Amino acid sequence: MRSLYVVAYNRCTHYRWAYAGTLWGPSPLICPTCRQSETRVVDSRDDETVVRRRRECLDPVCKHRFTTYERMETPRLMVVKKDGRREQYSREKILSGLRKACEKRPVSEHQLEVVAADMERELFARGESEVPSTTIGEKIMEALRTLDKVAYIRFASVYRSFRDVESFQEELATLLSK
Ligand SMILES: [Zn+2]
Repeated sequence: MRSLYVVAYNRCTHYRWAYAGTLWGPSPLICPTCRQSETRVVDSRDDETVVRRRRECLDPVCKHRFTTYERMETPRLMVVKKDGRREQYSREKILSGLRKACEKRPVSEHQLEVVAADMERELFARGESEVPSTTIGEKIMEALRTLDKVAYIRFASVYRSFRDVESFQEELATLLSK
């Protein structure tokens, strides 16, 4: 079966492109410098989210070397703000919110990364293309509540903008009684 494909590979450019991705690994890429020749992969490295490939132009004169990054396409998710505006979901924004709340607290960057990754998984698992910013806010509060109580209070006091001192103290009391 494979030899059959090899014949096609040799004779027809169309087939070569069609099958290159499946039978011969990553498809050949045209050199960005000479735009004439195909390139070969000289080195390939991947972590969980991205594959990095070193490529070299097959043209004996050009021999241009460059790097490509292959990333999983994440579905689009829009965050709907309170005023109805929409913006592209960003894990970095969640992280920066978490970092701000956990400033000078005994919480590691790794812990925050895990929280953000879990949250993102949950958000995408909803299978919807939009998520209200309030849902994200609540999720961040939920996560901080178990992570660090001071960070939680910090975040909640800004996010919920407690109406008055009493409601803030109430929240604090229920929190400390747990
Ligand atoms: Zn080239």
